[in-house]
Amino acid sequence: MYDYDLLVVGSANADLVIGVERRPTAGETVLGSDLVVHPGGKGANQSVAAARLGARTALLARVGDDAHGRLLLDSQRAAGVDTAGVLVGGAPTGVALITVDPSGDNSIVVSPGANGRLTPEDVRAAASLVRASRVVSAQLEIPLETVVETVRTLAPGSRFVLNPSPPRPLPAEVLAACDPLIVNEHEARVVLGDGAGPEPEDWATALLALGPRSVVVTLGARGALVADAHGAVRVPSVRVETVDTTGAGDSFTAALAWRLGRGEPLSAAAAYAARVGAVAVTRPGAQESFPTAEEVESL
Ligand code: ATP
Repeated sequence: MYDYDLLVVGSANADLVIGVERRPTAGETVLGSDLVVHPGGKGANQSVAAARLGARTALLARVGDDAHGRLLLDSQRAAGVDTAGVLVGGAPTGVALITVDPSGDNSIVVSPGANGRLTPEDVRAAASLVRASRVVSAQLEIPLETVVETVRTLAPGSRFVLNPSPPRPLPAEVLAACDPLIVNEHEARVVLGDGAGPEPEDWATALLALGPRSVVVTLGARGALVADAHGAVRVPSVRVETVDTTGAGDSFTAALAWRLGRGEPLSAAAAYAARVGAVAVTRPGAQESFPTAEEVESL
């Protein structure tokens, strides 16, 4: 028996958002709106999304010993995430400085901070947590060697899910562990390099050839494509009124990982995850947009 349905190994950031009439150019100062601070980061988003759906969820991450770190811990606990694996200190909490203009275009500066100090040694020290988890998911806002160590620490029979964001070429050892590797178009193109063909089916075929047991390509409002040794299947999206797509991919990944852990086939888990992503885009923000299981049912 596993203690957790899902362990997320990943980043936690404070998103500092200021609305501006015009984003500043070099050397320029502009006045903006009041500052709004949101809990974010792909890891923290995924764990909140899974817990809100009812998954027994834990987070392995690092935050600073500061107000942003406390904000992130509070939002995790409020969603029901087990935060015993969240390490505190070593650097300031990761921050994303975001300016948004009236058209919705933004400029973002990320300071990884404590996320960059989540080390392979931290994963080894948390080995019992990793091995107590049926599914383990990771992203790439933490050092790649930390993801490699996570793969090496998995319990036999557990499942590893990776969203390689921000994307970069991946070592064979990590690719071989992914079941599935979850990418959007941009991530597929970076992971594949020059080998990417024109269609999502081409990317899925080429990605499978790199070693993952399964691949999911998310396609925004066009849904997703799932592929494994049995073939590739399109998963339609649910048509909704889109308000804000922030966090759609994180909620999709968390929901997919949880449902796979419950034994659902990949296409069924992806269909459920598409419903979760669809609810998330009907609401502003990231973590605050993630639905409960009841809200997914009533979509
Ligand atoms: P982000 O980086 O913005 O969080 P992403 O690029 O990683 O997102 P997307 O492909 O945009 O991921 O979204 C993930 C899933 O959420 C999609 O596969 C789809 O099922 C659902 N989704 C996203 N946008 C929409 C939309 N506008 N309408 C309906 N469903 C959507």
